[in-house]
Amino acid sequence: MQPFSTFGWRRARHGRDTLMLPLPQNGARRVCENWHDRFAETPDVLKSAQNPRTRVRVLDFEVGGDEFITMAGPCSVETEFQLMATANHVRRAGARILRGGAFKPRSSPYAFQGLGLEGLKMLAHAREESGLAIVTEVMSENDVSLVAEYADILQIGSRNMENYSLLEAAAHSGRPVLLKRGMVATVADLLRSAQCVLDHGNSQVILCERGIRTFETAMRNTFDAAAIALLKQISHLPVIADPSHAAGHREFVPALARIAVAAGADGLLVEVHPNPEKAWSDGEQTLDFAAFDGMMADLEPYLALRGLMQQEAARNWREPVESCSMEAVG
Ligand code: PEP
Ligand code: MN
Repeated sequence: MQPFSTFGWRRARHGRDTLMLPLPQNGARRVCENWHDRFAETPDVLKSAQNPRTRVRVLDFEVGGDEFITMAGPCSVETEFQLMATANHVRRAGARILRGGAFKPRSSPYAFQGLGLEGLKMLAHAREESGLAIVTEVMSENDVSLVAEYADILQIGSRNMENYSLLEAAAHSGRPVLLKRGMVATVADLLRSAQCVLDHGNSQVILCERGIRTFETAMRNTFDAAAIALLKQISHLPVIADPSHAAGHREFVPALARIAVAAGADGLLVEVHPNPEKAWSDGEQTLDFAAFDGMMADLEPYLALRGLMQQEAARNWREPVESCSMEAVG
């Protein structure tokens, strides 16, 4: 069999199946220069010759490195049993980070607001038992030092993306910051908030696309996969996707996760619960254990294909297709 066809496709072997790979197009250099001009007001978050890629170190692994990182767990920390069962399950299925809110920003002031310190203690216990790292939201600058004592990554939620005093306090904590895109924030707004964290001396920032509000109301939000591709092209920071808050309905979470992989995301943030029907928050968008296992298994061929394409691009042009020429943007 010819490895390359005359139509710009090639055949590659992955496991027992034959995959058809489109050959990457070499147009990134010119495009990249334009995008850099467009986002020139946030220079430190843009790729440069000196800084092509930030790898955020967490425990003994990296977000933004070669491994696709899954962060999974309940929307809210509820009970010791719920958290431990979830931690053990998602670890076995390949997750590296346990998510769970102890301080919950809720759309309704009457909804469950989180267990606070008690929840943080449960998260710390789950880390001890499972070896997973912990990501949890911090909502107020007054809580940053407390949350930073228990968490490996501080999550800044959508509703707080432009809370600059919180961003500053989170930056000073020294912990990596997972910055979620605001519901009505543009990519430029997201990059401005990331720049703010970097300006305060913390370069360990992970960007998160979690869906935005548009005129389309069929799903909870509109998943902006283009933003992932764009952020991966222009920024050195890791980019992850949250298909749970984007979809708002659990049946669409695996499809959005596959789209995130194809768009180049470095990882996922997914809501998982032993019994989503009984979850204290966001149950409709939360996967049960079987659905999480199914999603993880389904992602494997997509990740393998992406890896093959990146290797191919590196062989042909000595750079991954997603990244741009550093001479052009430096
Ligand atoms: C969450 O991760 O549970 C959450 C509240 O997310 P967002 O800020 O994206 O709404
Ligand atoms: Mn949630």
